[in-house]
Amino acid sequence: MPSYHALRKEPKVLLICCSQLSYEEWAKHDLRLEPMDVQLISIPGGPAALAHRHRVPEKYSELKKDIKLMLKKFPSIHTVIAVNHEDCGYYEEVLKFKGREEIDLGSIARKLAIMASGKNIETFFAKPIKPGSEKLEFQQIVF
Ligand SMILES: [Zn+2]
Repeated sequence: MPSYHALRKEPKVLLICCSQLSYEEWAKHDLRLEPMDVQLISIPGGPAALAHRHRVPEKYSELKKDIKLMLKKFPSIHTVIAVNHEDCGYYEEVLKFKGREEIDLGSIARKLAIMASGKNIETFFAKPIKPGSEKLEFQQIVF
């Protein structure tokens, strides 16, 4: 039976992104992260719930709990990266509004700075390279 290096020991980064996104190619190319470097939280909407504590309180609490757990379990994590993407289905279906994916990253960064105190916080916005394209570019948003 084949076996795999599949148990993370010392991830460097906690990456929170929407389950719609495939982040691997970008993380390897732009961030120079190998699969074992990344501890992933991949859920619908990614970090969006952090910006909408009152609209989705149970999702907010769940995500906050998961972040705290990962940071406790893996002290090797030095950076927390939150990725939102254009036209995220979670915004339309769950939050019931559109077009806040990029601007919400500011609020998300502020929440993460508290939850992950002492870690580097980075935020990225992913959008198609041109309308309708399946290829995305990941732009770092600095606050
Ligand atoms: Zn999404």
